[in-house]
Amino acid sequence: MNKIEHIGIAVENLDSANQLFKKLLGKENYKIETVESEGVKTSFFQVGESKIELLEATNENSAITKYIKKRGEGVHHLAFNVEDIEKEIIRLKKEGFTIINENYKKGADNKLVCFLHPKSTNGVLVELCQERR
Ligand code: ZN
Repeated sequence: MNKIEHIGIAVENLDSANQLFKKLLGKENYKIETVESEGVKTSFFQVGESKIELLEATNENSAITKYIKKRGEGVHHLAFNVEDIEKEIIRLKKEGFTIINENYKKGADNKLVCFLHPKSTNGVLVELCQERR
């Protein structure tokens, strides 16, 4: 892992959260993308070498719907950049971490992604992401 790729933040309303983060960061988001398979609409802001990913649920079964019901809006996950997601999955499994989806999948922003269960990472949902080449 070589940097924090992004921080994911669960929001109830993407439009108003976008307005707020534009004011907070002093810049425009560079992308809005819906990932239908995950039930999320995302908005990305570049901050230095990392990003902020705002996540709004697009349906009732979305992980974001469940998260907000349980905990309210806020930091949802930390995403680390990896060079080789398959290698990292094997390494982390060996180290005893619980991988939610061992078959990594296509995520937002042109990435291959996989998640580690927060039970095995001090309560933090961790995402690994690799740039798709
Ligand atoms: Zn993410």
